[in-house]
Amino acid sequence: MTKLTFHGAIEGVTGSSYLLETATAKILLECGLYQGRREEEKQNDNAFSFNIGELDAVVLSHGHLDHSGRLPKLSADGYKGPIYMTSPTAELLEVLLKDSASLQRSDAEWENKRRRRSGKDLIEPLYTAEDVEEMLTQCVGNRYGKRISIVEGVDVCFRDAGHILGSSIVEMFITEGGTEKKLVFSGDLGNSYAALLADPEVVEEADVLLLESTYGDRNHRPMDDTLEEFEDIIVEASKNGGNILIPSFAVGRTQEIIFRLGQLYQKGKLKQQAVFLDSPMAIAVTEIYHRYQNVYNTEDAAALGQS
Ligand SMILES: [Zn+2]
Repeated sequence: MTKLTFHGAIEGVTGSSYLLETATAKILLECGLYQGRREEEKQNDNAFSFNIGELDAVVLSHGHLDHSGRLPKLSADGYKGPIYMTSPTAELLEVLLKDSASLQRSDAEWENKRRRRSGKDLIEPLYTAEDVEEMLTQCVGNRYGKRISIVEGVDVCFRDAGHILGSSIVEMFITEGGTEKKLVFSGDLGNSYAALLADPEVVEEADVLLLESTYGDRNHRPMDDTLEEFEDIIVEASKNGGNILIPSFAVGRTQEIIFRLGQLYQKGKLKQQAVFLDSPMAIAVTEIYHRYQNVYNTEDAAALGQS
């Protein structure tokens, strides 16, 4: 009598969190931060809407904060069991959650300045760097494609989702009364045109499919058009002696842009080779990407090998 309940990403696309209850175990899938408008983010302070003491295991599809950002709170509030994910995800979490803890601290300091002036009670940050350290000791990194038993009657296998480094589609095999059922959780899916990462793996069967969808009703324009435009802008700015500022997410997008700039240089379209990356967080993430070239798509891995 397996039961699935939704505890986040409801009428919104952040705060992903699902609770799977089988005859033998309770497993939390994702523990995401609410991000966006003030009212949405306020939900982060709420107590968890399930009993933390009853959890046997936590499973995480990938490192983005809207899927992982409340894990330090879960740990600080009393969950001390294992948190299963891929190995690159475990490394990215250290960078992402430490950054998140420092944002939580500065948010609380800012709010407390205001509260002090109006004589209100002060607030605590959602979690601290120490909470993150503690939570990181609970992370168990795994490789893609290996089926592992996480609790009695439940096995998990991570498949590459091609979204960010370490991202996965989670296959869960649940055995009850001698019958096995398979739940597939999509996580966030990448597309096959993204640089560096492999294409999302194809999972051919599922008894239950749990699907996240943010851009499901939109078609992206072809990647070739985007790359052509990117190239034109850079070549033109270079010709005119101009500067280009590229705002970019520290995880995924930055590494893709560095790779694309390298390709343009290799093709002789760009004169300058040096790239200055002005973000300690993006630099730390790029080092992790560099160490996991074994999970890249073969074409881009080969191109990097030649450079
Ligand atoms: Zn994501």
